[in-house]
Amino acid sequence: MNPRHKLDYYEKDLKRCCHCSMCKFIPLIQVKDARYTQVCPAISQKDFHAYCAGGKLHAALSLLEGRIEPDADLLDVVYRCSTCGGCDVSCKHNRDLEPLEVLFALRAHLVSTGVGPLPEHEPILMGIRNYDNVWQQPRQARGRWAKDAGVKVLPKQSAEVLYFAGCTYSLNRQLTGVARKTVALMKSAGVDVGVLGEEEPCCGSPAFTIGDHELFMEKAAANIAMFNRLGIKRLVTSCAGCFGVMSGKYPAVGDMSFEVVPAVSFIEELVREGGIRLTHPVNMTVTYHDPCHLGRQSEPYIPWEGRELKKLNSVVVHDPPKEYRRGTKGVYDAPREVLAAVPGLTLTEMKRIREYSFCCGSGGGVKSAFPEFALTAARERVAEAEETGVRAIVTACPWCEANLADGLAAGESGMELFDLVDIVTRAMGGE
Ligand code: SF4
Ligand code: SF4
Repeated sequence: MNPRHKLDYYEKDLKRCCHCSMCKFIPLIQVKDARYTQVCPAISQKDFHAYCAGGKLHAALSLLEGRIEPDADLLDVVYRCSTCGGCDVSCKHNRDLEPLEVLFALRAHLVSTGVGPLPEHEPILMGIRNYDNVWQQPRQARGRWAKDAGVKVLPKQSAEVLYFAGCTYSLNRQLTGVARKTVALMKSAGVDVGVLGEEEPCCGSPAFTIGDHELFMEKAAANIAMFNRLGIKRLVTSCAGCFGVMSGKYPAVGDMSFEVVPAVSFIEELVREGGIRLTHPVNMTVTYHDPCHLGRQSEPYIPWEGRELKKLNSVVVHDPPKEYRRGTKGVYDAPREVLAAVPGLTLTEMKRIREYSFCCGSGGGVKSAFPEFALTAARERVAEAEETGVRAIVTACPWCEANLADGLAAGESGMELFDLVDIVTRAMGGE
């Protein structure tokens, strides 16, 4: 296992958590409305300290020091968390700690010691192992969405850009249109694009978040080797989960001879450079939901090897200096710039946005293990969107789309939900 995935790697972070509870809220200076102070869906629902990042760090330290035995209560605390990383951004507003990495390492510890994951996660891991997708669909099903797309199929053919749809955009029939539309607009812009069809693998992100790091490392290493062999220059992915893991975790696994680009940034580039023209008005008011994996969890991996020193017996310094991923360099501007370029469309922001966005509640294996938790979080986010008075929510992640759709279906606002590429396609004159 990568040492950075191990719990004891973070022992000093565990000891430095001061139980201040800042990880439950967005930083005070960023609060725009007293009703929208919380950033942690687990705390929003459970309102019990153990469920926040600080509580989990405390539990992790107790586990490492043998003061508690793992039990069902601990598993509930650890897995009733969407690994959204809101806590990480808030903690790092004041501190140099790695709460989110600890949450992942705690899961990896429980899985490697045979305690985790939860039974509801087993089908996901089994799907990755046996079918190379989280939905346990046969491999042949994966390429169906692209059958009539008139796009090159790698590795038989070669292309400069690989479009990587991901398990959900490939296999969820409600969402395959996003993959088809993305390829169509890339082709219309003259991009030399290809897909892997039924050879497309799972990116391994769900294995990482659930805590099966052995499976994740195996997938990541095999995928990097395969992508390198293709000779591509860029890999473009629509799925926020695929992008987050390829950008934030893969570089620690192996050298990559290609650039990973989220579809929203690729589209923004095409719009800015005139490759596609948004000429048809889309007369609509929308709000944009930042997916966690496209935002705060998509920052590039930052390698660091060194040692910690204590100055004046209290101040910790790193030698060489250590740079932290604080969530501020995620993909926030590109989707907003694309929406701003759509004629007739008006964007009204919610109160919690960008690195302070409130999670839809779907990630980290929560949707499988605690569907009611996922739905309640989605309802909270949808209510925030409804308050803006707009007609539709736009986002750019299949997990958010599926969960927010459930949240909308449970309400009566009649708001619509779109992937960003749906809006772009309409603005190009398509449907
Ligand atoms: S994880 Fe960070 S923000 Fe949360 S209690 Fe610990 S020190 Fe405070
Ligand atoms: S990752 Fe998200 S749900 Fe989990 S403790 Fe942090 S803020 Fe809460």
